[in-house]
Amino acid sequence: MTSSPEALRALARPPALTPSVISGHEVFEGAHRLTVIDPATGRQISELAEACAATVDQAVQAAAKAFETGPWPRLPVEARQDVLRRISALIERDAARLASLECLNTGIPRAHLIRGQIARSALNFRFFADYIGQTQGDLYTQNQDYLTFVRRDAVGVCALLGPWNAPLALISMKIAAAIAFGNTCVVKASEQTPLTAHALMAILTEAGVPEGVVNLVNGRGHITGAALAAHPRIDRLSFTGGTETGRAIMRATGANLTPVTMELGGKSASLIFESADLERALDGALLGIFSNNGQQCLAGSRILVQDTIANEFIEAFVERTRRIRVGDPFDPATEIGALGSVAHRDRVLTYVGTARAQGGELLAGGHAIEALAPGAFMSPTVVRARSNADRICREEIFGPFAALQTFRTPHEAFALANDSVFGLVSYIWSNDLRVAMAGQEALRSGLIWLNTPMVRELRAPFGGFRESGVGREGGKACEAFYTEEKTVTIPVRDAAMNKLGSDRSHL
Ligand code: NAD
Repeated sequence: MTSSPEALRALARPPALTPSVISGHEVFEGAHRLTVIDPATGRQISELAEACAATVDQAVQAAAKAFETGPWPRLPVEARQDVLRRISALIERDAARLASLECLNTGIPRAHLIRGQIARSALNFRFFADYIGQTQGDLYTQNQDYLTFVRRDAVGVCALLGPWNAPLALISMKIAAAIAFGNTCVVKASEQTPLTAHALMAILTEAGVPEGVVNLVNGRGHITGAALAAHPRIDRLSFTGGTETGRAIMRATGANLTPVTMELGGKSASLIFESADLERALDGALLGIFSNNGQQCLAGSRILVQDTIANEFIEAFVERTRRIRVGDPFDPATEIGALGSVAHRDRVLTYVGTARAQGGELLAGGHAIEALAPGAFMSPTVVRARSNADRICREEIFGPFAALQTFRTPHEAFALANDSVFGLVSYIWSNDLRVAMAGQEALRSGLIWLNTPMVRELRAPFGGFRESGVGREGGKACEAFYTEEKTVTIPVRDAAMNKLGSDRSHL
C-alpha cells in the first residue's frame, strides 16, 4: 500500500502545546513558551511549555518517590519484562504515526525512520526485557569460611538527556535500559524535537509503567537541562549530544559526584583501501556520510582513499552524490530530507567557505536549495581537503558534508584516522585480512566496522574514545551503569571472633 506524502504527513497529529509529564500528569505551566518547527516547511507545528527549575525538581521528586515507595523497583523481573515487551509492541502498533511525527519534527526521510529509528525504538525495550531475564550475580567460594556473593541493585533516579538527530531511538534506549533494571527516571528530549518523547509517555502508561517511573521535562538546555543535571537527587545521568554540552553537564554532575555516561560527537573516518570491494566500499561510504541527512554522531565524515584507486573512487563518489534525491521527507523516494533547522543548515554551509579558504576543492553541492525554501534543505556536499589539519577534517560539521583525503600506505591511513580529538567509529573497507587486522589493532575508536556501514549490536558496548564520550551503552555496559554492586558476605560456619571487653580478649 502506498500513501501520498500528504496522507503520511497527516498521520503525525502533533499536540498544539507539548507539556512536561510528571507522575502521569501533563504539566502545561511554564512562563516561557518555545516554538517547535517543521524544518522542511519552516512552519510551527507545536509549542513547548518550558519546565523551570521548580518543575524539574517536582519531576525528580516524583521519580524519587516512585523509586523509594512505588511498585516498580520491587516487581519480579518477569513482571517488568511483560511491561517492557508491551511497550515494544505498542511502539510497533503506533509505528506509522511515530514515524510521521518524527519526520515532521526532524526532516529525516520517513521511509528511513520507519525501517530504522522507529523499529530500533521498539527493539530497545524488547532487548532489555530479554537481557534482564538472563542476568546473574557473582559468587565467590574460595574462602572456606565465608560465602560472598555480589548482587546488583537498581541505583535510583536517572536523568536521561537526548539530542535532536535521532530523538526517539536514542532516548528510548536510555529509558529502556534505566527502567529495565528497576530505576525511575526524568527524561529531557531536545527542545527542538520533543514530540515523539511526549508520544512515548502515553505508550508507557498504556503498557502499565506505574506513575512516576518515567517523567518528562521539556525546555532549553541551559534552563531545564541544567536544572536537571545539577539536581542533587539524581543518582545517574546519561547524556547523548554535543561535546561542549557534555563538558558543561560533567561540570554540574561533578559537584554531586553523579556518575555519567556521555555519547558525544565524532569525526569518524572511512578508510578505503585498494584491496576493498570498491562497489561495496562506495555504497558504504555514501551511506556512512549521507544517511540520516548526515546528522549522525557516527557519520563517516572523513573519507580516506588509497592513492592507487583515488581518481576512480572519487569520481564515482561525486557522481553518486550528485544523484542523491533531496526533497520532502514524507516522499518515500527522498534520500536526504531537511536538516534540523535553517540555522543549523546555514552553519553547515559556512564550512564550504572555510574549506575553500584553506585550499579545499568543492567537488559537489555546497549550496542551499532555494527551490525548497523556507525548508532547511541543502545539496549533499563533497570537498577534497588539502590536509587533515583543515577545519573540515577536524570539526564535527553534522550534516551531509564529506571531506575527502588520500593516503599511500595503511600505516599512513591509520595515523590520519587517529589524528582527531574524536574517536567514535572507524570504517575499514578492505578484503586484505592483514590490512583489516592491522587496522582493528591500530585504530583508536570505540567501534570498528569492517566492510559495513553502521550495524548496531545492542549486546556489545557502544561509545567513543577521547572527546567522543565517556562510558558505553549496550547490554552489559548498561547493566554496570544502571545498577549498584552490593557485596554480601556470610560466614559458612561460626568463625573465631575476638571478645572485646571480656577476659578472653587477646588484642
Ligand atoms: P546538544 O548538546 O546541543 O543538546 C543535547 C541535549 O542537551 C538537549 O536536550 C539539550 O537541551 C541539552 N542541553 C544543552 N545544554 C545543556 C546544559 N548546559 N545542561 C544540560 N543539558 C543541556 O546536542 P544536539 O545539537 O541536540 O545534538 C547533536 C550532537 O549530539 C552532535 O554533536 C552529535 O554528534 C551528538 N550525538 C552523539 C551521539 C553518540 O551516540 N555519540 C548520538 C547522537 C548525537
